[in-house]
Amino acid sequence: MHDFTYHRPQDLGSAASLIGTKGDAKLLAGGMSLLPSLKLRLTQYSDLVDLKSIATLQGIRREGDTLTIGAMTRHAIVAASDEVKQAIPALAVLAGGIGDPLVRNRGTIGGSIANADPAADYPSAVLGLGATVVTDRREIAGDAFFTGLFETALEDGEIITAVRFPLPRRSGYMKLPHPASRFALTGVFVAQTQSGVRVAVTGAGPSVFRLTAAEKALTADFSPAELDGITVDPDGFSSDIHASAEYRAHAIIVLAKRAVAAAQAQ
Ligand SMILES: Cc1cc2nc3c(=O)[nH]c(=O)nc-3n(C[C@H](O)[C@H](O)[C@H](O)COP(=O)(O)OP(=O)(O)OC[C@H]3O[C@@H](n4cnc5c(N)ncnc54)[C@H](O)[C@@H]3O)c2cc1C
Repeated sequence: MHDFTYHRPQDLGSAASLIGTKGDAKLLAGGMSLLPSLKLRLTQYSDLVDLKSIATLQGIRREGDTLTIGAMTRHAIVAASDEVKQAIPALAVLAGGIGDPLVRNRGTIGGSIANADPAADYPSAVLGLGATVVTDRREIAGDAFFTGLFETALEDGEIITAVRFPLPRRSGYMKLPHPASRFALTGVFVAQTQSGVRVAVTGAGPSVFRLTAAEKALTADFSPAELDGITVDPDGFSSDIHASAEYRAHAIIVLAKRAVAAAQAQ
């Protein structure tokens, strides 16, 4: 690991000021992705700005028809939250299926979506539920947030403060987990919302995406059988020793059906 200067600001303004004025500074959340890359010397930063002590970035609040989760809220907190289980059960299921206990007790929702790993679980919930990403500068629609492989709409130094999820009527999440890391080889989030059905797929392509053919079919009738006959083009999908692009394409429909069934069972 290369040397860096460690900062632990107590409020958002101080964090924004540090990240904006230090040479090559980087935000630090749970460190589950950032620290391994530093240890392996794949990345190097002059300063790390740890968001851990900023109380306003923590916590889960339900207000009317929305559920707001602070950026520094850890996966284990979301998985165990009665508020989440009641408002969006599929989100608690998703958080509880991330990695292992160590990862869930360190990793955060803000770090996960900022990192935009193509196999991460949370991006599918952000897109599938039509969430809004709130930052220290603006609000970004979930539909516009993920822009490519490890790429997001965040500007340099922009800090995610929370993710605001509109409550769906019902929703479900299913994934084919990598046997070691539990990252999604393919994962599908399905949500029946006031304005129709949204289906978001993670793990298959370079970035999370919506499956409009499935959305159309499920908006007509929210039932797994409606997905019979829908095929997914594997062109551009990931292909590796764990799953070919064709396998991932096939798994999307299988998982989407299971996610609908899980949503129906709520
Ligand atoms: C062994 C292992 C298994 C895993 N399995 C899974 C899995 O099954 N599913 C899954 O989805 N994920 C998995 N992960 C990823 C993990 O869940 C974390 O979410 C992820 O590593 C990033 O979150 P973090 O809080 O640790 O962020 P960090 O590693 O601290 O930061 C990641 C990136 O986000 C930026 N960042 C952090 N917070 C903010 C913020 N508030 N605003 C702007 N930028 C920010 C950082 O600067 C950095 O670039 C796994 C990780 C490991 C190590």
